[in-house]
Amino acid sequence: MKAFSFLHKDGLTRIGIEYNDAFYDFSQAWELYKHLKNKGQGPELNFLQVMVEADFFHLNTFQELISDLEKVRPLDDLKIKPPIIFLPPVGRPQKILCIGRNYKEHAEELGNKVPEEPLFFSKAPSSIIGHESKIMLPADAGRVDHEGEIALVISKKASHISEKKAFDYIAGFSLINDVTAREMKKRDTDAGRPWFRSKSFDTFCPFGPFLVPKQKINDPNDLNISVKVNGELKQQNSTSKMIFGFAELVSYLSKFCTLEPGDVIATGTPAGVGAIKAGDTVEVSVHEIGTLINQVE
Ligand code: MG
Repeated sequence: MKAFSFLHKDGLTRIGIEYNDAFYDFSQAWELYKHLKNKGQGPELNFLQVMVEADFFHLNTFQELISDLEKVRPLDDLKIKPPIIFLPPVGRPQKILCIGRNYKEHAEELGNKVPEEPLFFSKAPSSIIGHESKIMLPADAGRVDHEGEIALVISKKASHISEKKAFDYIAGFSLINDVTAREMKKRDTDAGRPWFRSKSFDTFCPFGPFLVPKQKINDPNDLNISVKVNGELKQQNSTSKMIFGFAELVSYLSKFCTLEPGDVIATGTPAGVGAIKAGDTVEVSVHEIGTLINQVE
C-alpha cells in the first residue's frame, strides 16, 4: 500500500493509492466511505499534506476503508486510468531539511571528514517537483549532480523529542533527489558560505512518487537505496550504513527547530554522486518505497 498525489482530469489534486499493483482514486473512495459510514461527515481528503496534518495518514485508515468498500462495491470503479500525472506527495512543506555526509564513503569521496554530529542544511520548498517532471539545468551553474536519498515526512509537531519516541512523529517514507550544483557548492563551502543556493534552484528537489505509511516498512534501518543514470547503477547502499539513523535525525533536529506536519527530512546520499547532463534519466529506487524517475533538460 503506497499513497500518492495526482492531477485529476478535472484539473484538481487528488490522493491516489497503489494497492495490489493497481492505482485507485482514494479521494473518491473516501467520499463514498463517508456516505456509507458517517452520513457524509468528515474532512475532504484531496491533499496528502492535509491527510498528514489531520493525523489520518495511517496504514489502518487505508486498510479499513478498502476492506469496507470492497464489501459493498467492486473497487474497479475507483481505478485510475493511465497516464497518471504524479504530483509531489507534499507540494509545499514548511521546511525541507537535509543532512550532509551521512554515509562514510560519500563524505570521503568528496574529500570531507566523517561528521561527529549531524550536519544540516535546507533546500527551498520551491525547488520541489514531482515524479516524471523535468530537472532543468540552470545556465552557467557548472556541474550539477544527482544525490538519491530517502525522505521522511513528519506527522505531527515535534519539539525536543527523544530518539525513543522519534518514530511516533514520522508519517511515512518517500524518495528525494537532492540535486546539487556541485561547483557552486564547493565555492560556497570554501568561502565559508551556506550551501543553500546550490541546493535550491527550481526543479532541484524531485520528490515522490509515493508516500509509504511507516507501518508498511518492516525494517527502516535496512533499506537498500540505489540510483541509476540512463539505466547504469551509480549509487547503492543500505540504510544500515547511515552514520546517523532516522530516529536520531528527527530527535536531533527537534532540539533546534519545531518540526511541523508535512515537513520533509532528506536523510543523506550514499557514495557514487556524479554529474548529470541534458537528456539523462535519473532513477532513485528503494524496493519498499518505489522508484522516482526524472529526466534532465
Ligand atoms: Mg544530499
